[in-house]
This record gives sequence, structure tokens and C-alpha cells, in this order.
Amino acid sequence: MKLLEGKTGIVTGAGRGIGRSIAIAFAKAGANVAFTDIAYDDNMMSLEKELTALGVKAKGYASDASNFENSQQIVDEIAKDFGTIDILVNNAGITRDTLLMRMTEEQWDLVIRVNLKSVFNLTKAVQKYMLKQRSGSIINMSSVVGVSGNAGQANYAASKAGIIGFTKAIARELGSRNIRSNAIAPGFIITEMTHQLPEEVREEWAKKIPLQRGGTPEDVANVCIFLGSDLSSYVSGQVINVCGAMNT
Ligand code: NAD
Repeated sequence: MKLLEGKTGIVTGAGRGIGRSIAIAFAKAGANVAFTDIAYDDNMMSLEKELTALGVKAKGYASDASNFENSQQIVDEIAKDFGTIDILVNNAGITRDTLLMRMTEEQWDLVIRVNLKSVFNLTKAVQKYMLKQRSGSIINMSSVVGVSGNAGQANYAASKAGIIGFTKAIARELGSRNIRSNAIAPGFIITEMTHQLPEEVREEWAKKIPLQRGGTPEDVANVCIFLGSDLSSYVSGQVINVCGAMNT
């Protein structure tokens, strides 16, 4: 029996990067996968094919996770299409890095809306389905930057620290209904998001990592399988750092 057999997972921002890896890992573990990204493009289409070829039900939805109404609609549509919602991975996220001195109100608001409000939007939308089932696992993608802070990322760090507070509050609020809520704090993971950083910044980061390499999206996806599966049935309200011991 595969670890996620019989479960349905939603993954937001799954067109590329970590989200895409989570969707693939979930399908390999036997889960049916509903995934979202901002637009239904070639990435989404190819992912849908890749997941379906793994023998599970899979469908991509164009949806802006930062939009409240749209998030409610998409979750209702997914519930109709898939029947149950067992796992929600709030993965969609962006950066608008700059020093506080140069940070505009728009850069602040956008990062908070996409990274933090999206977690509220989707969690609120899946709540009624998970409450009815009396089970569910919510996995929120925070960051080591939300745990420790980082110069030039005040907006991003605030959004990711906010996710941790939200995760812990929901674990307490919904625990009695067998709904678990955990956060993952990835360190330096090699994706298009980190490719935006200058070469010297990436080299500096790599030097600080005791395991001496950047993480892969699969490193993060494996922890999502654990948190989504019944192997973690007594794990809730936690932040799991996936960072090669960079944050200790
Ligand atoms: P990425 O930029 O490669 O992928 C993010 C995906 O989210 C993209 O496909 C993008 O289109 C989508 N997205 C953006 N805004 C959206 C919205 N409003 N609605 C729906 N989808 C949206 O990033 P990644 O590196 O794969 O990061 C994934 C998550 O992991 C993010 O939350 C990020 O903050 C977090 N994270 C990444 C790292 C890292 O080192 N890469 C480290 C810590 C945390």
C-alpha cells in the first residue's frame, strides 16, 4: 500500500519548482492531485499529463491563491471533482526583495497578500470539507527566513513568520477534529526563485550549509509526503526545517 493511497491532495503554485515536485511526489505515493497556479499554461498541462501517467486522478486549475473569492470557488470545484480533500499544501509564494529603505508599499502588500493571505484563503476554504470528514492535513510552506529573518527580505520574512503563527493557531483550533496543521521551513532550495539571486549570494549561502549543498525540491516534497500521510498522525503545530542544518 502506498503512503498516500486513497487520499486527495491540493497543491497551490504547482506549475514549477517545489510545488511541482510535491505534486509529482504525491502522485507517486498514490494520491489524487488537484493543483493550482496563476495561469493554465504549458507547465500546468505537462504536469497534468505527467501525474495522470502515474495512474492517479489529476487536474490543474488556474487560480490566484491571493484572491479570496476565487480560492473559495476553486476549492468547491475541486471538492466536486475529487470527492474529498485530505491534504492541502499552501505552497504558492513570491519574493520582492529589497532593503527596507527602498521597499515600496506595493512590494510589502503584494508579498503579504500572495504569501500569507493565500494561506488564510485556502485553509478557510478547505476547512468545511475537512471538518465534515473529521480528518485533514494542512501543510504550509514557510521558510528559514520566517524563523530567523534576513536582511533585504523584511516583507518575505514577515509573511513567512506570519504563516508559522497561523499554522500553530489552526493546529490548536482544529486539533479536536483530527485536522493537523504543520509548517515546513525550507532553507536554500535550488529553484527558479533562488536562481533570481546573484551568483555570489548563492555561493555565500552554500558555504553556510553543513550538508554542503543546496536542497532539491524533492527534499522538501519528501517531508510533505510524511506530513500528508498517516505516518505523522500525532505531529501537529510544528515547524520542520528542511535546510541541511543551516538553521539549528
Ligand atoms: P517558484 O517561484 O519556482 O514557484 C512558485 C510558484 O507559485 C510559481 O509556479 C508561481 O506561478 C506560483 N504562484 C505565484 N503566485 C501565485 C498565486 N497568487 N496563486 C497561485 N500560484 C502562484 O518558487 P519555489 O522556489 O518553488 O517556492 C515555492 C514555495 O517555497 C514558496 O512559498 C517559497 O516562498 C517557498 N520557499 C522556497 C525556498 C527556495 O529556496 N526556493 C526556500 C524557502 C521557502
